Amino acid sequence: MGASTAPAPAPVPVPVPQPVRVRLDDPAYHELARSFRGSLVRAGDAPYEERRRIWNGAIDRHPALIAPCTGSADVVAALKWAVETGAPVAVRGGGHSFPGHSVCDGGVVIDLSAMKEIRVDPEARTAHVGAGALLGELDAATQPFGLAVPSGIVTHTGVAGLTLGGGIGWLSRKYGLSVDQLLSVDLVTAGGERVTAGAGHEPELFWGMRGAGGNFGIVTEFTFRLNPVGPTVLAGPVLWPVEDSPQVMRFYRDWIAGAPDELTTIVIHRKAPPSPALPPELHGRPVVMVIACWVGEPEAGEEVMRPMREFGRPLLDLCRPKPYLAHQAMFDPSFPHGWRYYFRSCGLDRLDDGALDVMARYAGRIASPQSGFPLFQLGGAVARVGEDDTAASGRSLGHMLNINGIREAPEGFDEERGWVREFWSAMQPYQAGVYVNFLMDEGEQRIRLAYGSRERKLERLRALKAEWDPGNVFRLNQNIPPAGA
Ligand code: FAD
Repeated sequence: MGASTAPAPAPVPVPVPQPVRVRLDDPAYHELARSFRGSLVRAGDAPYEERRRIWNGAIDRHPALIAPCTGSADVVAALKWAVETGAPVAVRGGGHSFPGHSVCDGGVVIDLSAMKEIRVDPEARTAHVGAGALLGELDAATQPFGLAVPSGIVTHTGVAGLTLGGGIGWLSRKYGLSVDQLLSVDLVTAGGERVTAGAGHEPELFWGMRGAGGNFGIVTEFTFRLNPVGPTVLAGPVLWPVEDSPQVMRFYRDWIAGAPDELTTIVIHRKAPPSPALPPELHGRPVVMVIACWVGEPEAGEEVMRPMREFGRPLLDLCRPKPYLAHQAMFDPSFPHGWRYYFRSCGLDRLDDGALDVMARYAGRIASPQSGFPLFQLGGAVARVGEDDTAASGRSLGHMLNINGIREAPEGFDEERGWVREFWSAMQPYQAGVYVNFLMDEGEQRIRLAYGSRERKLERLRALKAEWDPGNVFRLNQNIPPAGA
């Protein structure tokens, strides 16, 4: 979530790495096939079509080999083969990269999705989490103990990619980013070495892993600190007609000023989805929703929420005590696998009138039943960690806006992309940075912005990259070039 007052530059197309011709009939491949414990998948193998797909249906790439790893030995073997062969390396956790970095043309996909083991120690309040775990699987393992890791808002997102870029969600203001609760990571380096990075061992590498992690190695296991959450939270949406957006948003801005850390909110403008939780007459109606999650004493939460719930004439109020697990899954049906997604994002220091007017204008132009724009509230515990304490940046931002152009099928997707780009450009005067996990392929300037545009920080990351991945093996990501490259 890099912060800068400079307007973000126009997107620059990123050169796509050219596929190399990978030989699958030579001794090196046969050696890999002998030692690899998972089942390697090549083009033409039965599972290939399914296994090459990732969450974003707009991405259509054909790797030479998919290596579904069963543990760190498989990761080492697949990586060694890729490096020796010169094949591009894509690393896959949950497969939710917006721009599709977890699959490539002509290279190898190191697929960690089967490495899902989660071990919870409720006494020590820690969780060891395999790199293939999804957010919902982590929550399901920790919530029986009334504990959780702050993570994201869609349960089928991968813990790995989300954490390595920062991790914002419903617990951010109370417990910070996902990386703020990270105690250590086990990883395989570009040189095939197994390393543990934490505060007491390889602290500089650990610093970089907390925000720019995919650049330095392949994580096989995360260790998180756990925090008390729920299992019941006071949470849910309050909906108003989209025409009321200017008044609702101005009220919202005042209401959240000085809100306790127990409260995290996300505001969404979209057409109301055909959810069984909503009355049929609302389905498809353009709305603005303030969705709250209160992690604390319910009575205090009721008091804090009351003014928002009583503002204007809401169409519906679904804010109530509910299991944290249910609240976490609320957005799942809005982001299924295989639809076409195009996102652009920006940070905001504050909600200026001008920015709210742009939002109201583009809310009125939403064509797709699925498109919309979540506005995440930040601050609280996120902002109490120093800008230089982790690679994750933009600690002082007030909000993160994510403009989502979505279509179930290809028809109309170009129009959605146009709406996203135009809206994002209209937000330029108010933009204050970007979150690395919400970037598409937008070029070097935008990646710099994600690390706060502080030369010192970027230099530190580039030095770390030169130490751990001088050949830039891990380049299919929001790439930090090695110092001296
Ligand atoms: P993948 O596509 O598997 O991985 C993405 C990238 O991460 C890879 O290209 C690689 O560079 C790196 N990577 C993955 N696994 C490893 C590993 N084990 N070792 C090293 N590098 C690795 N973000 C938030 O912060 N909060 C949210 O609420 C949120 N909601 C989202 C909802 C949806 C529906 C989607 C699609 C994304 C959301 N995101 C959110 C963004 C999300 O954090 C990123 O897309 C993230 O990269 C997804 O991680 P993944 O493991 O699923 O993705």
